[in-house]
Order: sequence, then C-alpha cells, then structure tokens
Amino acid sequence: MKALIIGGGIIGSSIAWRLASDGVEVVVFERARLGQEASWAAVGLIGPQAEAHEPGVFFDLALAGKRSFDEIVERLTRESGIDPEYDHEGVLYVAFNDAEKADLQERAKWQRAAGGNLEELTPREALKLAPMLSEKVIGALHMPTNWRVENRKLTQAYINAALVKGATFREGARIDSIVTNARGATGVRLGDGSTESGDLVINAAGSWAGEIRGLEDDRIRFYPVRGQILCFDARPGLVGPSLLSAGGIIVQRRDGRILAGSVFEEAGFNKSVTLDGMQRVSQAARALVPTLKSITFREAWAGFRPASADLLPVLGPSPTVSNVLYAAGHFRSGILLSAITGEIIADLAAGRKPSIDLAPFSPARFRDGTARPVKLADWK
Ligand SMILES: Cc1cc2nc3c(=O)[nH]c(=O)nc-3n(C[C@H](O)[C@H](O)[C@H](O)COP(=O)(O)OP(=O)(O)OC[C@H]3O[C@@H](n4cnc5c(N)ncnc54)[C@H](O)[C@@H]3O)c2cc1C
Repeated sequence: MKALIIGGGIIGSSIAWRLASDGVEVVVFERARLGQEASWAAVGLIGPQAEAHEPGVFFDLALAGKRSFDEIVERLTRESGIDPEYDHEGVLYVAFNDAEKADLQERAKWQRAAGGNLEELTPREALKLAPMLSEKVIGALHMPTNWRVENRKLTQAYINAALVKGATFREGARIDSIVTNARGATGVRLGDGSTESGDLVINAAGSWAGEIRGLEDDRIRFYPVRGQILCFDARPGLVGPSLLSAGGIIVQRRDGRILAGSVFEEAGFNKSVTLDGMQRVSQAARALVPTLKSITFREAWAGFRPASADLLPVLGPSPTVSNVLYAAGHFRSGILLSAITGEIIADLAAGRKPSIDLAPFSPARFRDGTARPVKLADWK
C-alpha cells in the first residue's frame, strides 16, 4: 500500500512513522518546511486534564491520547535518536478569586469521577510546590500526571523515526487537490500541476485542511485560532510545574526558556504578534509569577491552532471520497493527541479496529448534520 500524507506537521509526521512502521510506503507532502506551523508554536503540554473543560468524548480521547503517548515515547526516542524532553513535571492550575476557585472545585469533582488524577492544594501547599508562584493564589489543583514535551523536538523525532522506517518527506510541495476516479481517490495533484498516485490519501493539513480541493462535498470548515507566546530566558528549573490560570499558562523548557501564553483569537491567517495579545499574555503571566517582570525577554511568536466548526478533532474516512482519511482539527491539543492520531490512522489503514470509538470525531458529522457547531467565544 502507498499512502500520501498532506501536511508535515506533528500529525502528518506521527502518522508517517506509524504507517511506515507497518510497512506502508509513505510520502509526506509539506507545502513549506516541515514542522514550522502550529507544531512549532505550541507550548507542549501533554495534559488531558488541563485541556478538557468538561467530561465527555473529548476528555476520554485526551486521556487515551496521554496513554498512547506514554506507550510510544521510549520507542520513539530510541528510533529517532532525538530526546523530546518529556518532563514529568505536573500542572498546577490556580485560582485568584472565589469564582475561579469554585470553577476549580467543580473541575476536581468531575475529573475525579471521570478518571482524572488530581490533588486539591491549599495556597501554602501550592507555593511549596512552585515557590515562584504569586502569593495572591487562593486555591490550586495539582495534576501530577499532566506532563510536557519540547514540541519542536517531538515533531522532529516523529520525522526522523519515519525516515528511519523508509518514509519520504517532500518539502516545498503544496497539494492542490485530490485526484479521483469512479472508485475514489487515486492520488494528489500538486500546485505545480504534477500528480502522485497512491492507494490512500491522508489530509493532515492542520488549519489549511479545508483548502484541499476535491473534498468540498464533505462540508467541513477548518479555521485557524491564533495563539501568541512570549518567551523569556531564565535559569533552568526556576518554575517547576507548568502553571495554569483562567488567564494564561507558564511552561519552562529544560534549557531555561520560559514560555508564557496564550490567547484564542480569530484573526484569519494573520500570524502577527499584536500589542493586545502581548498585553493579555504578559498580564496573565505576571499574575502567575510576579518576578517575571524583571526576567530577560527573548522573543514572541504566534501560531494557528487548527479548529473545526465544533472544535473537536476530525478523524477518519471522508464521507464522499473513498480512500481519503482526515486527521485534522486538533485545535489546542495536537501535541497531546499526536501519538493516538498516528495509532488510529495506522489502524484504519490496516483494517484494524481503533482502540477508541471514532463516531464523535467522524468527518461525516458535518455533512449529515449531527455536528454541534461551537463558537469560539462560547467555548472560552
Ligand atoms: C500557541 C499554541 C499553543 C499550543 N499549545 C499546545 C499544548 O500545550 N499541547 C497540545 O497538545 N497542543 C497545543 N497546541 C496545539 C497544537 O500545536 C496543534 O493542535 C498541532 O500542532 C496541530 O498539528 P498539525 O500537524 O495538525 O498542524 P500544523 O503543525 O499546523 O501542520 C500542518 C502542516 O500542513 C502544511 N500544509 C497545509 N496545507 C498544505 C497543502 N495544501 N499541501 C502541503 N502541506 C500543507 C502546513 O504548512 C503545516 O506545516 C498549541 C497551539 C498553539 C498555536
């Protein structure tokens, strides 16, 4: 079998590794350079409890995503020769006022019931765990198994491991459309007019997944949700656990860089860093770690979270074109969900039953009207 993957971000690369490991011939098409979009911009939480707002299908997928990641990370490190810096520092989710504290208590309740691992901490206990934390915190939830990676290294690890298994990556290769015959997809057409034939096409084009021509009848809208990150240079080990509040997040890398994020904005494909974004991020970051105000600023960037109309991932077969699978719409959780997405797509390609029920994530939901669109403003 020959599989053609559109998009060389973390999702396309993870799929390439799993398919190539199964002996599938794989070609990944990346219109620009590999791994330079959302997968580069992220902060890298592998944090199902930090990312889910309610119990249900997404939380279950996120938990399964963490388990899948834990299962592959050693093998991936070995096969790729790249350490993705999987730090076993948990997440400390803090409250600054009564409403936020009530929200954390509610979160603790449903997460415990749904299988999450957490501890409710007093401010004193939270400060013991993270001495840089603001003394204005009035309550905290510790999620000790919500860890983090260096997502740029992780993306490169999937790419390297896929290369070792024989996958081909083509940079500067934009896919324009799916080539079909009466039975379904037979390949892809590139922007320069050339074609490549294959038995299976996988749309892993992130925020651009809706732009591939030939899939219009699937009626799936993908759009970019901009995030902005401020990055500081600090002493390694300064912050400890990743710090999360209703307003933002702080994550430290092994080399000392502190990443502060983020905002959720609909700004089209405009990847600018803005004064408003920087102001909101710095306000939330200073509230979490007041001493950040005098730590050396290094750089800022923005990236696009790939969203679908109901803000859930889109995983599985196209309802209108046979031999096309979607692996897109991972929104704010594509790093966390990278391993399980590779696993699911490899299972579907091989005719194996995936380990989770894919019905809630089926691409067909937009065409058959069962998707429940969610506005970004209502989600936050
Ligand atoms: C600020 C920020 C913070 C985040 N933090 C986290 C986090 O802590 N944890 C987490 O799990 N997730 C996080 N995310 C989300 C995560 O980054 C994304 O969900 C994930 O990277 C999506 O991966 P992807 O491969 O689908 O998309 P991308 O990385 O965007 O890759 C898609 C690729 O497809 C290519 N492409 C597009 N169109 C075509 C075409 N026609 N032909 C060929 N190639 C094409 C693009 O050039 C791109 O390289 C964050 C995102 C942002 C922006």
